[in-house]
Amino acid sequence: MTTAFIKPNTKAAHYGRVASLSAIEPPVWLTLLAQTVADGVVVDMEAEGLDHEGLAARLGSLQVRRAVILATGSHPSAHVQQASAAQALKAFITGRWGIPVDVFERLPFDPVQAGAVDWDRIALERYRAHNWHAWGRSDKAYGATFASVSCPFACDFCCVKDFYNSGYRQRDPALVAADIRALTAKGVTNIKMMDELFAMDNPGVRAVCEAITATGLAPRLNIWAYARIDTVNPPLLARLRAAGVRWLAYGIESGDEKIRGAALKGQFTNARIRDVVAMTKDAGIHVLGNFMFGFWDDDRASMEATLALAEALMCEYANFYCVSVYPGSQLYADMHGRGVDLPVSGEEYAQMSPAFKPVPTAHVTGQAVLAFRDAAFARYFSGAGYLAMMERVFGADTVAGIRAMTAINIRGTR
Ligand code: SF4
Repeated sequence: MTTAFIKPNTKAAHYGRVASLSAIEPPVWLTLLAQTVADGVVVDMEAEGLDHEGLAARLGSLQVRRAVILATGSHPSAHVQQASAAQALKAFITGRWGIPVDVFERLPFDPVQAGAVDWDRIALERYRAHNWHAWGRSDKAYGATFASVSCPFACDFCCVKDFYNSGYRQRDPALVAADIRALTAKGVTNIKMMDELFAMDNPGVRAVCEAITATGLAPRLNIWAYARIDTVNPPLLARLRAAGVRWLAYGIESGDEKIRGAALKGQFTNARIRDVVAMTKDAGIHVLGNFMFGFWDDDRASMEATLALAEALMCEYANFYCVSVYPGSQLYADMHGRGVDLPVSGEEYAQMSPAFKPVPTAHVTGQAVLAFRDAAFARYFSGAGYLAMMERVFGADTVAGIRAMTAINIRGTR
């Protein structure tokens, strides 16, 4: 008899036609939770490709006495997107077996105190890196670890503190190094540092970099992590690169300094962004820029400024999102107060889903924001200067992959 710890499968519903390009990330939180009971078995429906009937067969073979569903992926926003799928799954399991089922939409334990991940509980060969993360690499095997939870900042649109029910706290660097050693021993070198914000120059982060560097494995590692423009400097970037960090994802969000300053609760200029992106590339680290369209004060001109900034920065990869209004964020309270019709279901929150429901700004409709986002994606990744840079950095195969990506018709409208 076992306790099944289940991750719902929302891949096709949430990613639609770009599902094959997105990562399948090891369920670190679910695995740590499963480790808390002796008979815990991880059932990752997404990685195992299971629908409800497939899950039924799997649970039958396990002789399950209890099920625990964790409605979250690798990022806190996933708990909002997976909540309805988790409740549907609970109804299905209860109806079929009548066993107790617990659903958690927030972390029910403290990951910082949970020890090292027992990687033997999941089949690592089922996981794959994002397309961009594996550019220039011969394999896509994917792992993850974390050095902290939550975040010391308070961006308007962010719901991380709600998910962790906690402020920023750091993990023992030795545990991070243990995860890295275990993953590389299993042949996994593409690794996500799951921290909501890893790249900060503080003693804990410096200790993690030193612990990873001391493993001697860094030259083989391809780690990506989140950063902020106002939290990095050249010595920190050098430390990160020495520890095997090859990609940093910056939340740049808007090309309009006033909009960005209000949303991110941080003041950095477009000139500073340009300097930090150049500084990061100079340190031998690729840049992923995150940009958002649809802040409340956004209009056509400010969204155009955001895209123009992205094109000028020429990050090796760029994510273009519509602003999402997650419960638990300040933005949710603000938009609710304005009477805006907000998304409800997981599909309505999923940016790549055909059912995605964009929110309006004070000046343009939600559909206009979404159309701008899709056009921005196509324009950025088709740019002649960008493609020439990518060919120099990663080679012709990567450029062919980018062309194939931009040929995908996300919404079936062309
Ligand atoms: S820096 Fe990132 S994780 Fe932290 S509050 Fe802002 S968006 Fe959230």
